[in-house]
Amino acid sequence: MEHLITLDPRSPLVLDTRELSRRPGSMREVQLTAPAPVDLGTVVIGIPEGSDISLDLRLEAVMEGVLVSGTVAGQSVGECVRCLDEVVDDVDFTVTELFVYPERAKAAEDAGDDDEEEEVRELEDDMIDLEPVLRDSVVLALPFQPLCSPDCPGLCSECGAHLADDPDHQHELLDPRWSTLKSIIDETKES
Ligand SMILES: [Zn+2]
Ligand SMILES: [Zn+2]
Repeated sequence: MEHLITLDPRSPLVLDTRELSRRPGSMREVQLTAPAPVDLGTVVIGIPEGSDISLDLRLEAVMEGVLVSGTVAGQSVGECVRCLDEVVDDVDFTVTELFVYPERAKAAEDAGDDDEEEEVRELEDDMIDLEPVLRDSVVLALPFQPLCSPDCPGLCSECGAHLADDPDHQHELLDPRWSTLKSIIDETKES
């Protein structure tokens, strides 16, 4: 039977766990810098694809599989929800994920205790793919509504001017009839 390999071992976010020899208690620390994968964030803010992310992880063999935990850091780029300016900030987040040995997952499934609600990540050929884990974890660390500064005044609702650059910005909201009258008065003054 042909075995289908779906994970690319050359990807920096795919880690090989064979070194742990599936011995519960064996542990390995991994520090690496990798280019951020696509879609690492939300629609309003995220870590741009290809920018550096640093991972400081611990891979630990447990009975059911391999437990991955640690921290990930990068730089997020987004858009201020009030003034639409670019918001650049450091972001770091923790990851904790259990990758289950496929036969363990299958045994649990056969025993009927697979929880539909709970998504189980499995090892594939003793490799783990961090990409989906990062994607799920980063969202929790990013601001829901990014702001360039906590008191960003936003944009003028009349003309869209950037209010932070122009704090005294205001409009003389004249009734059109008044402006006609005003021009008549001005004309009278001039003559
Ligand atoms: Zn702003
Ligand atoms: Zn304005």
